Amino acid sequence: MKYQSTRGNAPVQTFTQILLGGLASDGGLYVPEAYPRFSSDDLAAMRGMNYRELAFAVLSRLVDDIPADDLRALIERTYTPDVYRYVGRGENPADITPLKTLEPGLHVLALSNGPTLAFKDMAMQLLGNLFEYVLGRTGGELNILGATSGDTGSAAEYAMRGKRGIRVFMLSPEHGMTRFQQAQMYALQDANIHNLVIRGVFDQCQDIVKAVSNDLDFKAKHHIGAVNSINWVRVAAQSVYYFKAYFAATRSNDEEVSFSVPSGNFGNVCAGHIARQMGLPICKLIVATNENDVLDEFFRTGVYRPRPETKHTSSPSMDISKASNFERFVFDLAGRDAAKIRSLWAAIESGGSFDLRADGLFDKVAGFGMVSGSSGHADRIDTIRRVHQTWGVMIDPHTADGLKVGLEHREAGVPLVCMETAQPAKFEDAIREALGVEPLRPAELAELEARPQKKHVMDADVEAVKRYIVEHAR
Ligand SMILES: *Cc1c(COP(=O)(O)O)cnc(C)c1O
Repeated sequence: MKYQSTRGNAPVQTFTQILLGGLASDGGLYVPEAYPRFSSDDLAAMRGMNYRELAFAVLSRLVDDIPADDLRALIERTYTPDVYRYVGRGENPADITPLKTLEPGLHVLALSNGPTLAFKDMAMQLLGNLFEYVLGRTGGELNILGATSGDTGSAAEYAMRGKRGIRVFMLSPEHGMTRFQQAQMYALQDANIHNLVIRGVFDQCQDIVKAVSNDLDFKAKHHIGAVNSINWVRVAAQSVYYFKAYFAATRSNDEEVSFSVPSGNFGNVCAGHIARQMGLPICKLIVATNENDVLDEFFRTGVYRPRPETKHTSSPSMDISKASNFERFVFDLAGRDAAKIRSLWAAIESGGSFDLRADGLFDKVAGFGMVSGSSGHADRIDTIRRVHQTWGVMIDPHTADGLKVGLEHREAGVPLVCMETAQPAKFEDAIREALGVEPLRPAELAELEARPQKKHVMDADVEAVKRYIVEHAR
């Protein structure tokens, strides 16, 4: 399996070549030259597999340059009940992503049992092990630079802590993350983890990362890399749990399942799209947004119109104004026409929008099973309350966005799986507002906020960040 750019003007690469890279050199995103396809015999054989076996069955079709035994060992080491240990009472830790049934035909897929209590651990832990493996083969080193408003940064740090040849420089805004999220990152004492707390807001952190990454000499000299959501491996690893959930929610491969996915950068739901392209019998992929509804607008109207401003909401991990993985989906929607993608994204990159109604492309969306909806703060609070009252289950505000929109699209006879993207413990304010109680949290993390913190507070200054990296990246 080789990988090509969605914009058609970058070299074709192998899996490990795109592992450490970000965008393709032509500004596009890497996608497989063709999706592997599971036959009905394959799917029948996969039905009885555990998480690790499924991960190998799926990922070995997407990886061409890691020996099978090595890939298997990496997967075995990643997807263990020890890593994904914060399962709820009564759930089986061996499932890795247990399916919680609210009522017949309505389920929540628990994806946030990893070290940072958000679904990003599902892919990031594998990425950490793959990075270490590949760097070990080449003797190289990698300095990961990123900006976070919460979940991505902590997932990256927990995945990379203590890894040979890897350092993490993670920029976070002084205000805007919950106390729990801050403590999760800043309490890490590992020598290879650097928390740079910027006196400013998230957008300034992101601008600094862009400025440093655009300095190509600096980037090459100091082996700067990224783990952002356009990373193909993250999307590929996430497709595995769609298979796991499908088999858990059905009795036969003649059935179809719909998934509702709380969405921001379109990474999670893109993984569902890929699972569908690989032959998984998915009925609908329900794209759920919050007030930042650029994706909902597209799936309702055919117009993709990134916003100049991001709204700050009570489901902050979905606060995005443009969806960086969306280009992968539109590439398939447009029949894999790279010239079309180049022209559409030329409009986006000059601050504009595009409309797929005129050339008939929007009519094809239905064939890909994509539908959407959005929700606001009052909907989230109401959904958290309703789910708790009706089924006795506590959900976080992002999962609530997914459930609210998922239920609007629920069809009789089609099981609906709602993705749980974070545990309520991370978002205590919303839980307190909805339920008047503190969220449950794993006993191990009871004293998290009281642990000593290691962080470096600095001004929003590109040169100061570069100096810090130079001093600590040796
Ligand atoms: C990252 C995140 C999302 C959005 O996922 P995308 O892959 O960016 O669409 C939703 N919920 C939570 C809790 C997240 O951390």
